[in-house]
Amino acid sequence: MDKRTFLKSTLLAGAGIWAFTRPGEAAGMSSLQEWIPDRLVDEKGQYILPPLDYGYDALEPHIDARTLRIHHDKHHAGYVKGLNKATAAVAEALDKGDMALVKYWERELAFHGAGHFLHSIYWKNMGPRHSQPSGDLKRLITRDFGSFDRFRTYFAAATAKVEGSGWGILAWQPAAAKLVVLQAEKHQNLSQWLTIPILVCDVWEHAYYLKYQNRRKEYIDHFFEVVNWDDVSLRLDLLLGKSR
Ligand code: MN
Repeated sequence: MDKRTFLKSTLLAGAGIWAFTRPGEAAGMSSLQEWIPDRLVDEKGQYILPPLDYGYDALEPHIDARTLRIHHDKHHAGYVKGLNKATAAVAEALDKGDMALVKYWERELAFHGAGHFLHSIYWKNMGPRHSQPSGDLKRLITRDFGSFDRFRTYFAAATAKVEGSGWGILAWQPAAAKLVVLQAEKHQNLSQWLTIPILVCDVWEHAYYLKYQNRRKEYIDHFFEVVNWDDVSLRLDLLLGKSR
């Protein structure tokens, strides 16, 4: 696999769910971008609450109708509302040229964004019909965890032991091309699951302290002088499903 093919496969798998089969391939979609939006935004770019694919009582007796209705219609809707509010607040702050509250709004974006995206996966991950892993998913679960039963034991234990509120997550780790089980405490910690980085700036002190000491902003200004925008562009194009 050449570097570009590897990058492409890892980026396409970066949503943390699908393996070697490109997302949406079975449904006739050709890019991650076609698959991801999945009614998470409307045509104006406003985030929207995706409807459930099944009735509130469809998961009974495992997940009761009352819980499902409140969870979807109240809790998830709250994340959507909060994400739109934070998104609009950032736009307003940029219009005013006032970044004083950027730290607050970034926290809000992460909290509500992670909530919106993870719940959108959660609803789709469940359904009334009993099913089993198949295809690449079955093959890679067996390869990476030994067997489905071993995976289930691990996933259940990790999920049960999440400290406080959070999620158990089966994720695709592009860097090693393998499946991993993760815990998410709460769900954000300043990231949004299902969001894929294309430009990153390291602000751990080891990245700048020898030269810039406590002048982090000065380091960031200099970082912009050395950004390889062709690489950033390539990452975006691959996510958009554009071939080069
Ligand atoms: Mn929830």
